[in-house]
Amino acid sequence: MSTPTVSSAQLDELRFRLDGDLHAPGDPAYEDACTLFNAMVQTRPRLVARCATPDEVVAAVAFARDAALPLAVRAGGHSVTGRSLCEDGLVLDVRPMDAVEVDAGRRVARVGGGATWAHVDRAAHRHGLATTGGRVSTTGVVGLTAGGGSGWLERAHGLACDNLLAVELVTAEGELVRADEHTNPELLWALRGGGAGFGVVTAVELRLHPLPAEVLAGLAIYPGDRAREAMRLFRDTMRDAPEGLGLAFDLTTAPDDDPDVPDALRGRPVAIIVGMYAGSVADGERALAPIRASRPAADLFGPTSYPDFQCSIDDPPGHRNWWTAEQTLDLPDDAIDALCDWAQGLPPGPSQLFVVPWGGAVARATERTSPLVGRDSAFVVHPLLMWDDPADDDATIAFGHAFRDAIGPWATGSAYLNFVSDVGRARVRAAYSPSAMERLAAIKAAWDPEGAFPGSHRLA
Ligand SMILES: Cc1cc2nc3c(=O)[nH]c(=O)nc-3n(C[C@H](O)[C@H](O)[C@H](O)COP(=O)(O)OP(=O)(O)OC[C@H]3O[C@@H](n4cnc5c(N)ncnc54)[C@H](O)[C@@H]3O)c2cc1C
Repeated sequence: MSTPTVSSAQLDELRFRLDGDLHAPGDPAYEDACTLFNAMVQTRPRLVARCATPDEVVAAVAFARDAALPLAVRAGGHSVTGRSLCEDGLVLDVRPMDAVEVDAGRRVARVGGGATWAHVDRAAHRHGLATTGGRVSTTGVVGLTAGGGSGWLERAHGLACDNLLAVELVTAEGELVRADEHTNPELLWALRGGGAGFGVVTAVELRLHPLPAEVLAGLAIYPGDRAREAMRLFRDTMRDAPEGLGLAFDLTTAPDDDPDVPDALRGRPVAIIVGMYAGSVADGERALAPIRASRPAADLFGPTSYPDFQCSIDDPPGHRNWWTAEQTLDLPDDAIDALCDWAQGLPPGPSQLFVVPWGGAVARATERTSPLVGRDSAFVVHPLLMWDDPADDDATIAFGHAFRDAIGPWATGSAYLNFVSDVGRARVRAAYSPSAMERLAAIKAAWDPEGAFPGSHRLA
């Protein structure tokens, strides 16, 4: 395929429209935009356009179209599959659009298309409000929400996409449009879990919910030889838990330099129950009592603010990453045994087996409001493999595939795509019902007929 050539007049025009913020290989802003969370992604676009306004997005989209360059949109940079960059094309780095305005009366946040959850959490907290966001503060709001958006508050308030009220986006035609319940409702529906590939989102509006200034949050750490016991305790606690309880279970290696980790556990395999209660600290004490009574090696639950807790487990970027996930309707003891056996092969370091309990408000949303299936799952079981040496790629990824065999007997077959690297056609189909898939493909064809926006995954 021939490489499109771009005239210097076209470049000058775009540079002018971006107020100079156009970057080529070697520029610090280019290199920064091309460094994603997953170090395996080494894609080299031709240019990076940093867009601070919808007008700048319109100019960059028009430039890519006229120059026949591939296009990608980069925000928080946490796409494990690397779909926020494109080889030899134009990348729109939308991070400068990170403003958050909170209308406390209406309990709505208007959020720029390049904001991360850290921006939203802090702004909403000032008004005693919050909404479901990712479990680390550095993920982008739009990417996470368009993929569904699983977080600590989901059982109380639904996934992030269930709180998406409106979207403003620049289409492939270069038009700025709004989608809400009354205007372009199909487009809004698609962006509530159908991925981010319908245009460049310049702003979203999110529903907010009251949350006390202090909540009970933190983690309990168990030595690796108590993993089965801790996972059963987690499962049993979640079975009857109030919807405010948002926990996760984690099998990983304890950091060797964290003063909160008991000396004997540093650098050793551990089981962790982590999370928070979305309500008063007193109610949180009651909900977390079984965990705290189980004599963990370290009980690090305590009163804190939601934004502080949200950034307390921000994962380190720069490792090689391969992720997958399966959903289950329960975790019977033999499933727990199979998972603990498989997890013994986890590479030491930040790799982990992370288990998220659904239920509550997640299960109440239907295909009428969001295309995602698998809402009835009780658990999302999610290995995150992280390593550093490229020589370990094949063995580590093969180990990741073996997880799907280990959990196979209990897996529903649904896919939650925000948590998976192996986004082949079959996995995308597993995230939606056949009718939702058809509807998404029709919406994609209507708004992006030439497939200008790669989005988080391929829909057609
Ligand atoms: C450390 C880590 C923790 C995570 N935690 C969670 C979690 O708790 N819950 C969860 O559900 N998911 C989680 N994820 C997955 C994450 O939600 C998705 O990878 C999400 O797409 C990341 O968005 P981003 O903006 O950070 O990444 P990017 O790589 O910048 O973008 C991801 C995708 O969204 C598109 N996109 C981003 N912004 C826009 C925009 N404004 N307009 C159009 N397209 C856009 C990009 O083009 C790309 O396709 C996590 C990922 C990582 C690496």
